Amino acid sequence: MRAVRVHEHGDYEVLRLEEIATPEPGPGEVRIRVAWSALNHLDTWVRRGVEGHKFPLPITPGCDFSGVVDEVGAGVVGVEPGLRVAVAPGFGCGQCRRCGAGQQNLCARYGIYGETTDGGNAEFAVVRAENLLPVPNEFSLDVAAAFPLTYLTAWHMVVTRCGVQAGDRVLIHAAGSGVSAAATQIARLHGARVFVTAGTDEKVARGLENGAEAGCNYRKEDWAKAVKAWAGRDGVDIIVDHVGKDTLPKGVWLLARGGRVVTCGVTSGAQMELHFAPLFFKTLSILGSTMGGLGELKQISDLVFSGTLQPIIDSRFTLDQIAEAHQRMGDRQVFGKICLQVDPSLS
Ligand SMILES: [Zn+2]
Repeated sequence: MRAVRVHEHGDYEVLRLEEIATPEPGPGEVRIRVAWSALNHLDTWVRRGVEGHKFPLPITPGCDFSGVVDEVGAGVVGVEPGLRVAVAPGFGCGQCRRCGAGQQNLCARYGIYGETTDGGNAEFAVVRAENLLPVPNEFSLDVAAAFPLTYLTAWHMVVTRCGVQAGDRVLIHAAGSGVSAAATQIARLHGARVFVTAGTDEKVARGLENGAEAGCNYRKEDWAKAVKAWAGRDGVDIIVDHVGKDTLPKGVWLLARGGRVVTCGVTSGAQMELHFAPLFFKTLSILGSTMGGLGELKQISDLVFSGTLQPIIDSRFTLDQIAEAHQRMGDRQVFGKICLQVDPSLS
């Protein structure tokens, strides 16, 4: 089969399209003929490498993908070839107390397809049967590939970690990122009010279309001032931050009493100076978040497949255009998900 393989970390040229052996499903696993795979920031880390972190190389990237079940391994019940599916990107050991409680993302042996083992930038992928998210016949497989990782991440941040309530004022940075676009929809679904920041007027406008009540272009305006003007004296209840150094220390001053800032990444830098006074004066919380549990994702997939949550696709590429697709990830114009079509005969 054809697969994108990363043998060593580096720039776009390390994304090699190769012919490799088609994987066989083991006990409890199924093989999927991949239709679409969607990119995440994680793919760029897998390509570039992260200082002090070891990825298993060579690896096939791609944490998000959809397709059709092709072969079923021993012991798998209730799954037949031909079933249209999306895939839950994360998996635990299945045996520890965290996995038992459905908190796979807290399992010490938590893994992600395309990061810790081969993923979906290939014609076939083998996954655990419990990771299958059956896709209704009328629902398109490109959108089905475009939501699992970002919606799970955003849901875990906004709902599980922050406990969003109707009427909450929520500040979401980088409106066009996959996680932020999902977080905006999820906060709105829970009756919260959303303010977004973005680096272009167009992205702010799209953030408003996506459900935000207000927003600002941080290149033109002082975003902290704009948030204050919107939220009033109290401030905001929740901040969704994956920018880090450039936004988090300032954001803490904008939180209302009892407010929480939740982070799932630090694109502008991980080390920052933080003033602790508002933390205790206002009883604030700084929360970390990575992925979420399988139960959460099954709940989300019902909302996506029923049209309640609507993933946004930025652009579509083919598997041959993997380098262009990665290049697009770095483009400041991106709003939503970048999708790779692997098998045009599946839709
Ligand atoms: Zn476990």
